[in-house]
Amino acid sequence: MKTGEIRGWHYATREPMRLCWRDGRITSLAPAPAPPAPGLWLAPALVDLQVNGYAGVDFQQDGLGPADLLAAVRGLRAAGCTRFLLTLITDEWPRLTARLRHLRAARSRSLELQSAIAGWHIEGPFLSAEPGFHGAHDPSLMLDPRPRHLRELRAITAGDPLLVTLAPERRGALEAIRLAASLGMKVSLGHTNASAERLRAASAAGATGFTHLGNACPRELDRHDNILWRVLDAPGRLTTSLIPDRIHVSPPLFRLVHRAQPEGAVYYTTDAMAAAGAPPGRYPLGRLELEVGADQIVRVPGQTHFAGSALRPSDGVFRAAEMLRCDWQDAWRRFSETPARFMGWESGLAPGRPAHFCALRLTEAGRLAELSVVGGVSCGRVPRRGLPAEFEFPNSGLCP
Ligand SMILES: [Zn+2]
Repeated sequence: MKTGEIRGWHYATREPMRLCWRDGRITSLAPAPAPPAPGLWLAPALVDLQVNGYAGVDFQQDGLGPADLLAAVRGLRAAGCTRFLLTLITDEWPRLTARLRHLRAARSRSLELQSAIAGWHIEGPFLSAEPGFHGAHDPSLMLDPRPRHLRELRAITAGDPLLVTLAPERRGALEAIRLAASLGMKVSLGHTNASAERLRAASAAGATGFTHLGNACPRELDRHDNILWRVLDAPGRLTTSLIPDRIHVSPPLFRLVHRAQPEGAVYYTTDAMAAAGAPPGRYPLGRLELEVGADQIVRVPGQTHFAGSALRPSDGVFRAAEMLRCDWQDAWRRFSETPARFMGWESGLAPGRPAHFCALRLTEAGRLAELSVVGGVSCGRVPRRGLPAEFEFPNSGLCP
């Protein structure tokens, strides 16, 4: 796909438009000469900053090859997501770093993988070991972050985008945050029971995010003082991610977070594990075997807490809109432009921006009937069945 043109309704302005691109960049965006069919929409491709696995592939397993990663990448693409952070969770440090090295080497063997796996998210082992706060992570493997850990992550990933989730109450965490920021990493706080004062200090040290607010905390919280109030009492200081599956965060809390936080300070993530984009069953997440029912709830057998989600990115947008009782278009940017901006990446439908976007067809009732992705590098089959002629692309990705 060197050049192309497509017509549809702009997801944000709701205006009919004609979008042209060349060599992977949007070259122009102009009013469409004739209105496109109703229900045909164009929106930036989704960006997911926390993906532990997808389409039956668990990124925590050793020995994954390019074919495994491609299955996950193409599954995410079919759900509207062209860029994501491959996420590794708590493990013994040498095993975690060996896995990261191995995955980065596997990614380097394919342009399609390099285009989709935009970087890495390391969630653990610098997390709280307190009950409820460690979630599905093994508390016995938690560590205090040392400068050598951060330097090692930076050395393995070279200049790749890197997001680290850590609990700022751990010893040495503030120094680690300062060092991480100076090494060009993004730091998000999470799996934490830090005091308000410690959260403020972490933010002053360079932390800018809070990972999956409303999760990685006990079911029962002190009504006077808890991690939710401490984060929300400083609106906009930390950009918070939310899992919009209606399961991880209750609809009332989901709405309240949006009211408390300024626009641009909430983004969505699936926190998906292998069961996402795959049928119900038993799936691994690292050393755990998890059970996923038809309700898409991911459980550790015999326990009450959730462990990752089975959410597909495009479904997340529509579930968020349902919870917020807003148009899907207003929820879409929190799963595309907002996480991209948080990482410092380009996104959005504008001349000069990457030509990564979704073409959607909605039913009259506003349900998603068809989704197709344009842009990025894709050599796999991209579903576009049922789309009208103006949505037929000669080649929807750049295949080297
Ligand atoms: Zn987590």
